[in-house]
Amino acid sequence: MQTKIRPITPESLAEAKNLIFNGGVVAIPTETVYGLGGNAFDDHAVKRIFEVKGRPNDNPLIAHIHTDYDLSKIVDYDPPCAKQLREAFLPGPLTLVYPSTNKVSPFVSCGLNTLAVRVPSHEGAQAFLREVDIPIVAPSANISKHVSPTSAKHVYDDFQGKIPLILDGGECVGGIESTVCDVTGDVPVILRPGLITKEMIAEVVGACEEYTPDFSSGEKVKSPGVLYKHYSPRCQTRLYSSESVEFAISAYLREREKGEKVAVLCEEKRMPDFEKLGARCLNLGKTEEEMATRLYALLREAETCCNVLIAVEPTAKGGVMTGVLNRLRKACASVDIPHKKV
Ligand code: AMP
Ligand code: MG
Repeated sequence: MQTKIRPITPESLAEAKNLIFNGGVVAIPTETVYGLGGNAFDDHAVKRIFEVKGRPNDNPLIAHIHTDYDLSKIVDYDPPCAKQLREAFLPGPLTLVYPSTNKVSPFVSCGLNTLAVRVPSHEGAQAFLREVDIPIVAPSANISKHVSPTSAKHVYDDFQGKIPLILDGGECVGGIESTVCDVTGDVPVILRPGLITKEMIAEVVGACEEYTPDFSSGEKVKSPGVLYKHYSPRCQTRLYSSESVEFAISAYLREREKGEKVAVLCEEKRMPDFEKLGARCLNLGKTEEEMATRLYALLREAETCCNVLIAVEPTAKGGVMTGVLNRLRKACASVDIPHKKV
């Protein structure tokens, strides 16, 4: 199969619609990362998404809708706090998990009685969602566990020959996936941190909690995606905390001495420590937004320029950095186990 990359035009949108209504998958841009889109009502299309990504079949998908889509078509109940959050943050990088049964393909939520719904703000995503006028499930358009894509080229690198069409909406500005927030209980609970932070949600609805699964208790995990090693570049990775840069420097020198091709991923202010050793540095930038935007592109660059990546956590914590650190830690996890809360 030939994989076409097309700018978003009336013609490419019509082609995308045709593919979607014939059970196909199409990659679409959003303001966070690119998604692999399929018809949420179509069992075959949803199964195809799991198959083409190699996604574990217990990791549910998010349904994407345009700003005027009637939410009551896909959820059972719309809690008052959800309305407040939609008014404050949508369209935007926030996914809300609603009570929902039998409204879309049962494969979307992998047997859970909830549905995660997102309204992206990206103009191209909105144009596509309006064109099809149905909910589109769209997990990140990367092979499962690989780094999420923030450009059409990243999607092409993972799915060349496997999907027919990539709608090119430029580079994603958000850079990390949406915040996933469960609104089925009394207090909203963040299942996956992102650009809409716990603090921002609490300011709107009065309170917000962060979910940390207790793996030792045998409890059923609320958001199975948190279980997996994820976002990982195809090179060895070693992650150091911001307080232990001297260990990162020793590791860098040790790997170089062994003859490995080494690169360093760190925030801008750390770079002189490594550059004076002649190291190749991948610059995460200065602000938390910059770090979110650049993280995935740099992890993909790492796999082209080194076989060992020494990563140093940025000093700032909390806010958007909770999401950035969550992704960086999972990207550098050596085994397929969950990481502790940031
Ligand atoms: P991705 O689409 O690859 O960005 O991943 C979607 C994330 O949303 C994963 O972490 C899923 O576990 C989570 N998710 C999707 N649907 C639900 C749901 N119904 N309940 C809880 N988490 C969900
Ligand atoms: Mg993903």
